[in-house]
Amino acid sequence: MGRYRHFIGGDWVSPVLGRWFETYDPSTGQVLASLPGGTAGDIDAAVSAARQAFSPWAAMDAVDRGRILARIGQKILRNVERLAKLESLDTGKPLAQADADVRVAARYFEFYAGAADKFGGTTIPVPGAFLDYTLREPLGVVGVIIPWNYPLQIGARAIAAPLAVGNTVVLKPAEEASLSIFELARLCQEEGVPPGVVNVVAGMGETAGMPLASHSGIHHLTFTGSLEVGRKVAQSAASNVVPVTLELGGKSPHVVFATADLDRAIPIILKSFLQNAGQTCSAGSRILVQQGLQAEVVGRLSDALSTVSVGPGIANPDLGPVISARQKARVEGYVALARERGAVIMEGISPHDERGYYLPPMILDGVRPENPVFHEEIFGPVASVTAFSSEAEALSLANATEYGLVAAVWTEDVGQAHRMARQIRSGQVFINSYGAGGGVEMPFGGYGHSGYGREKGMEALYHYTQVKNVAVYLGAKVG
Ligand code: NAD
Repeated sequence: MGRYRHFIGGDWVSPVLGRWFETYDPSTGQVLASLPGGTAGDIDAAVSAARQAFSPWAAMDAVDRGRILARIGQKILRNVERLAKLESLDTGKPLAQADADVRVAARYFEFYAGAADKFGGTTIPVPGAFLDYTLREPLGVVGVIIPWNYPLQIGARAIAAPLAVGNTVVLKPAEEASLSIFELARLCQEEGVPPGVVNVVAGMGETAGMPLASHSGIHHLTFTGSLEVGRKVAQSAASNVVPVTLELGGKSPHVVFATADLDRAIPIILKSFLQNAGQTCSAGSRILVQQGLQAEVVGRLSDALSTVSVGPGIANPDLGPVISARQKARVEGYVALARERGAVIMEGISPHDERGYYLPPMILDGVRPENPVFHEEIFGPVASVTAFSSEAEALSLANATEYGLVAAVWTEDVGQAHRMARQIRSGQVFINSYGAGGGVEMPFGGYGHSGYGREKGMEALYHYTQVKNVAVYLGAKVG
């Protein structure tokens, strides 16, 4: 697919140090494209372009900003097939999942297009002769660092929301999968986003990500990625007093009570830990089952595993490869550790292609809470099963990790569902489901080490604006 360049100030620009690096197709291990190796000089240029573009973009009528975003959404929808193929090749994810990702990316632009002219301040009743009101003002330049698992979806949400309320963006995609982000930047420009409003600088975490996170010219940082890197970027941003949204990892539980409708639950649970080969921050990878139901749940899941097809993403199997050889080795390491600690492993069909980074779908039964696979994020097509005896124990197990991103409660008892929803420490709780459409409208983010701040929905717009209070003295009373 040739050689890409950074997108800075509306131009396609070679990296200042003249270095490129290669990106690979996880389904074959073959080189896919050459990406520009961004460094501090490229980040400086992008931040400077974004700062210059800020005032006119912020001053534009919100209706007009919204119209541009709406056109981008439409343009993405007209390019679904092409973008889905690219995303599938770059990440290894099954074509149908890539197709869904592209449609969700379009939804972010549609949603924030509609929100652009409906988001504002409030009036506040105060004592005395005052009119008091708030204004929601854009912050300035938003630095965005994203991971490789859902580049287009995560990139779209982290561009559309800040742009809607008048900010400009410098985005660094992940070195493993950047291609769809360059395409998105191209579509933004074609649909009327002025030069400098969206900038993309590719490169490695240390050499391109860190200069962005620690740049004194940005006004907000949105980081999506691992806990380990999230800590580092938040520390760097703190030294410039730059606020940060951290969207980190998860170890999300399915809590399956005795009354659960298993015909509905099993396929949804399966999809939740196999989607994108389990490389999803919100993967439902911890199955907690009420005693008495464990054998049936494990039996049904294990039967379902044997029907899961595995292959290159572009051939649209149920399960594609993981992103890299390193990721594959990491998952295998966790499975070996689980076995050593007494878990029983059930596997689906093993793929035959030795070139790509394939793993079979797996269930680890009888996982005790002290087993590392119970509380550490594996990021592979693997779920653990742990039994509980009472609602109190279910709650305690659900809350027994450092993370708190998503949870599901499966029960026919309405009171139990709401009791659990109130007490689970997690940014989202689903009752008898896991997800509700693409999730574009719903605030998303973590408790605990899953991060802080919220993306998606109207909630994200509060993070991409700052509030100013204006108090107007109305003068002495007349008469
Ligand atoms: P990662 O933290 O290794 O990398 C994420 C991004 O940070 C990449 O662009 C990378 O280049 C950059 N980076 C790496 N080191 C850096 C540094 N020192 N300074 C600045 N930037 C740096 O994560 P990953 O492996 O790409 O993604 C997997 C992780 O992301 C998982 O933990 C997953 O749960 C999490 N994730 C969270 C969400 C969410 O919305 N909560 C969504 C997707 C993924």
